[in-house]
Amino acid sequence: MLSPMRDDTREWISTDQTYCWHPFTRQAEWCKQGTEPLVLVRGEGSWLWDSEGRRYLDGNSSIWTNIHGHAHPSLNSAIQDQLGKVAHTSFLGFTHPLAPELARRLCGFFPEKTLERVFFSDDGSTAVECALKMAVQYRRQTGETARNGFVAFTNGYHGDTLGAASVGGVNRFSEGVRGMGFPVRHVGSMNELRDLPSEEIAGVVIEPLIQGVNEMRLWPTGMLLELRQWCDLHGVHLILDEVMTGFGRTGCMFACQQEEVIPDFLCLAKGLTGGYLPLAATLTTGKIYDAFLGADHRAFYYGHSYTANPLGCAAALASLDLFENEKTLDHLPEKISHLSLGLTHLKSRQPLIHEIRQCGFIAGVELRRPDGEKFPPVERFGEAICLAARKHGLLTRAILDTVVLMLPLSTSLDEIDHAIHALEAALS
Ligand code: PMP
Repeated sequence: MLSPMRDDTREWISTDQTYCWHPFTRQAEWCKQGTEPLVLVRGEGSWLWDSEGRRYLDGNSSIWTNIHGHAHPSLNSAIQDQLGKVAHTSFLGFTHPLAPELARRLCGFFPEKTLERVFFSDDGSTAVECALKMAVQYRRQTGETARNGFVAFTNGYHGDTLGAASVGGVNRFSEGVRGMGFPVRHVGSMNELRDLPSEEIAGVVIEPLIQGVNEMRLWPTGMLLELRQWCDLHGVHLILDEVMTGFGRTGCMFACQQEEVIPDFLCLAKGLTGGYLPLAATLTTGKIYDAFLGADHRAFYYGHSYTANPLGCAAALASLDLFENEKTLDHLPEKISHLSLGLTHLKSRQPLIHEIRQCGFIAGVELRRPDGEKFPPVERFGEAICLAARKHGLLTRAILDTVVLMLPLSTSLDEIDHAIHALEAALS
């Protein structure tokens, strides 16, 4: 039971309960007495404050988006500067100074003549949706009409727009649209992929190195490179969904750099703006882009009203500057080993921790009974632990019984310790 609330908190919750519909939420239980949501009102660095004045470490980077911390002065002022000029202008028929610069800098992370074009959209789902539609249209325009389907991985997650959901492999999220969208085959491993006939495959889509929504499960080392080689051998496009892994989370700017793989399509969102504004990007090669030139019908007829929003681009450019000025990636190895050591010690003290899965600065802590059996799903044990962790100043979410620790990259060593202590206190 939460402590008594201030009147304004109660009012915000009650209005929310009356009018809002939340994502991935069992609305019947939403705002029930004793489990009222926190009303978050302020952030600074890795911390968030609720309307009752309590402070919490942002243990899942506000749903995997935040990179440099909240209310960072450079990000704030970049957005404010742009706001003083114009908040939004159409990218349909116009351009503005920031989007081309951002596109140039994103391509600059990759060798020349590889990823050379950037298509902007709004969210992770739309970044993936774009890649899928481009991949299929490319095949039609190059006379390979048989290649109209995709291969995706079991338990993968790529977003909720219809195309992105149709390649999703998590049953509880995609069964609502099963049979709709793109033709898709799901495989669990490279071996299963090798057994498939490749002639009808336009592209393979994968979350490189680690499947986030699949309770932070890692792919075997070297698998991404093998996949690239398989795609090259069979003329299949490789679509990397780096919506979660992009922008330093795995220790490198992009996860694909860890295996020196360059995809045909790279999907970016969440951390692109440092986690400040919705903006996404789909990067692709000059060869794919060229197939969309020529007759009118070859154009990519796709886009959204807020494509390349100038405020989002200002935040993204400021975030890339911060990576350079604050040497964000250089500080990561120490933080990653500190997190790893802390979690290893925690596991040795806590019989409820079954497995720690870590990829760079992303960690999943799987909880099971001390005898190794899973908790019955109805107990929602992971959720209960996250609720308990709140009382110790840590906000995060569990995926089933795997508690996610995905702190902003700017989090200090002491703050990492705070997260681990809070999790320990919750488990105790
Ligand atoms: N791809 C991956 C790997 C993701 O983790 C997510 C979101 N968790 C998405 C796509 C969808 O992104 P969004 O919620 O921004 O549409």
